[in-house]
Amino acid sequence: MYQEIWNLLYPKHCPVCFEILEDQKGDICPSCRKKVKRIRQPYCYQCGKPLLSKEQEYCYDCKRRKLSFDRGFSIVEYDTATAPSILAVKYKNRREFVKFYGRMGREQYEKILRELDLDGIIPVPLARKKQRKRGFNQAELFANEVAGWLSVPVNRRLLIRGKETTPLKELSPLERRAALLKVFFWQEKYYRGERRVLLVDDIYTSGATADACTRILKKHGIEKVYVLTMAIGRGDS
Ligand SMILES: [Zn+2]
Ligand SMILES: [Zn+2]
Repeated sequence: MYQEIWNLLYPKHCPVCFEILEDQKGDICPSCRKKVKRIRQPYCYQCGKPLLSKEQEYCYDCKRRKLSFDRGFSIVEYDTATAPSILAVKYKNRREFVKFYGRMGREQYEKILRELDLDGIIPVPLARKKQRKRGFNQAELFANEVAGWLSVPVNRRLLIRGKETTPLKELSPLERRAALLKVFFWQEKYYRGERRVLLVDDIYTSGATADACTRILKKHGIEKVYVLTMAIGRGDS
């Protein structure tokens, strides 16, 4: 009863078309579900990007350069169906959409992630000023969803993000990678002895952010770093 009244007052919206869901028990309209491309095998063994054929083990990017994290997984393709939804989380305060990705992530990766014997979940941090302005960190919201079904604690303070001297958008890919290494910092006082962690973020593009965070984590003794993102660009696989 309470749930029904709640749904009348605050109806759930579809995370893809943003319309009110006809079926309030569902989490996406059936027609939108068809538009969302989930990441399924075959995907890159390193970064988790979808591949064109089963014969490939790594995507084009990962064949050319080795990233420092151990393996990456992503839930959906970042495309015209999902991009507005994922961007709405951070720019339009549609935090509730994170739940949808969290649930799909469980269906796709719970078994694999459990086998990794993880002892911490680390959200990619936002710069303090940005987080204060936005009021939340979307990576942290996603981390909390994953923690809910994986039963692994979130350590949201282990890494912090400092100020960028030059906006990353203005830099070349190579310059960006170098700049990112100086942006994230380890906070020893929040270290709880983690050894095998899951780094989580909303979008995976070049992998430069995940790579930079991993380098810092591994430099301080974390042995394994796996990456889970809500969406990933297809790139040229
Ligand atoms: Zn829809
Ligand atoms: Zn790859």
